[in-house]
Amino acid sequence: MQYQAPMTPEAALLAVIHCLDRAHTGGFKAKAFVRALDVVRNTDPIELAERARDERLTELNGIGDATAGVITEALAGRVPSYLTKIAATSEVPITPEGARYRAALRGDCHLHSLWSDGGAPIEAMAATAIELGHEYMVLTDHSPRLTVAHGLNEERLLAQFDEIERINAAISADGHDFRILTGMEVDILEDGALDLSDEMLARLDVVVASVHSKLRMERKQMTERMVLAVSSPHVDILGHCTGRMIGKRPESTFDADFVFAACAQFGTAVEINCRPERLDPPRELIDLAVEYGCWFSIDSDAHATGQLEWQPHGCDRAAERGVPIERIINTMPADELLAWTAA
Ligand SMILES: [Zn+2]
Ligand SMILES: [Zn+2]
Repeated sequence: MQYQAPMTPEAALLAVIHCLDRAHTGGFKAKAFVRALDVVRNTDPIELAERARDERLTELNGIGDATAGVITEALAGRVPSYLTKIAATSEVPITPEGARYRAALRGDCHLHSLWSDGGAPIEAMAATAIELGHEYMVLTDHSPRLTVAHGLNEERLLAQFDEIERINAAISADGHDFRILTGMEVDILEDGALDLSDEMLARLDVVVASVHSKLRMERKQMTERMVLAVSSPHVDILGHCTGRMIGKRPESTFDADFVFAACAQFGTAVEINCRPERLDPPRELIDLAVEYGCWFSIDSDAHATGQLEWQPHGCDRAAERGVPIERIINTMPADELLAWTAA
């Protein structure tokens, strides 16, 4: 992405945050910029300009040297040097083989917004998806039981449908050929049931089903639980199937032969989750899913705009394991994908 002056301090800070997110630079640095963004949004623009001129920005609680520099340069009509530097060093790398897969992707089927545990509004996620060249994105915020992630109950999900409709109208009024599709990342409950009513599941364009609780369940039970979920006619994608967090949490144990056979049988795509700490499924399980003739979906599982740029991680992995491009559902145009999920 190329940044052009003039940009507002808010836009400059958002751009820095975007780059820090795509570089997976969490922690202190990213928090400082999020904090500064909040200060800028709550400070009168005239006061902000005066403080920048008099070099008194750092007197504001929440503004440090780095963030003050970004604000000052933006107000002076320049692309902040910090932004130029971080933009150049945070690009997500991709192999030539992976690039072929990335070029074939038309959308992203798993991402979150402020409505659950994401960090950005739906509009911002959509704006980035458009910049990335996507034709659609499926908004998949969490389901009600995942209270730690502010999962959406039925009422909020209905409200989100209205919001998506409103945003889609604005997007097309702006002349973009882009659509937000409705969806949810629905929890697979302990008994394999789904954390949403059949009626609501049927209304969603795309349903991702994932295990988020009792990840250490005994192998036979976990297999049954997952097989039940992926055989539901409502479920389109099995999210991050092993639940692993690289270096932090081991893979769940289940009989992958049964699970992938069921995915192939019932037309549920196996997600290739692109989050660097997940990269789920691991290599040998991708190989097995390919053997079973499964469908795949290469999804960012983004919780911030910068993370929408993570698809290269999954594309590289898919290329390495020889996943057939024609079995990847998000290479389909939106209408074709909708026909596929409805089938
Ligand atoms: Zn998840
Ligand atoms: Zn997710």
